Amino acid sequence: MPGIPKLTKSDNERDLNFWERMYLPEIFKGLGYSFRKIVKEPNYAFQYPDELWDPPDSYRGRPVLVEEEGKPRCVSCNLCARACPPMAISMQSKEVDDPTSPKEREPAWFEINMLRCIYCGFCEEVCPEEAIVMSKEYDLTFHDREEAIFGLDRLMVPVERLSDRLEYLEEHRNVQETKEAWQHREDNNLHSLKDRHLLRALIESEMRTLEETHLREEEPVAADNRWGGVRSK
Ligand code: SF4
Ligand code: SF4
Repeated sequence: MPGIPKLTKSDNERDLNFWERMYLPEIFKGLGYSFRKIVKEPNYAFQYPDELWDPPDSYRGRPVLVEEEGKPRCVSCNLCARACPPMAISMQSKEVDDPTSPKEREPAWFEINMLRCIYCGFCEEVCPEEAIVMSKEYDLTFHDREEAIFGLDRLMVPVERLSDRLEYLEEHRNVQETKEAWQHREDNNLHSLKDRHLLRALIESEMRTLEETHLREEEPVAADNRWGGVRSK
């Protein structure tokens, strides 16, 4: 029935004594503890924004795209967008024309809506290229909603400026049973490489399973595929 308090006390809960039921002594005890800490311990406050906090390498600030020689390292595989819980990432892929480029695709445009981003780091976690990483930037301000949608111009950060985070990931992410870090962009990311000679060499040397999972006929395999679904109207 509404209005009747429910007794939630469990059997192993001790009874409060008279002073504890008064609450005031406990409040003064807590205040005393706080004042002792204030006097005895150093002051951790920062004079923001004149003084800025330098976060540790493990900090998850705003996600950024790694820029190498003026281009994003991203191969536009879309994994980060699929993994992003609040669907903050959008992108459009385009083919890379340059035959010397190891990449098949790159983003034509790439956006992160920073009003949606919850700084979870899932995009960084799933990216097979270490092309999107969490930076140390935490002080973001916007004047309107449009301004909070970051495009390639604001997302790309030169790889040299992200070396702390990349080294941190190298050391702590995807550590295998052998205690060695997973080497990205070599055996982990063959789907993005045009160099089939490297793929064959890896298969012959040590990675037999790749023969079934990665190596395909040179001809397009999807030529005879027919989509059997029903188109939405
Ligand atoms: S940090 Fe999380 S919420 Fe933000 S873009 Fe990456 S996956 Fe999405
Ligand atoms: S997961 Fe990495 S490589 Fe794939 S689209 Fe996202 S940033 Fe680019």
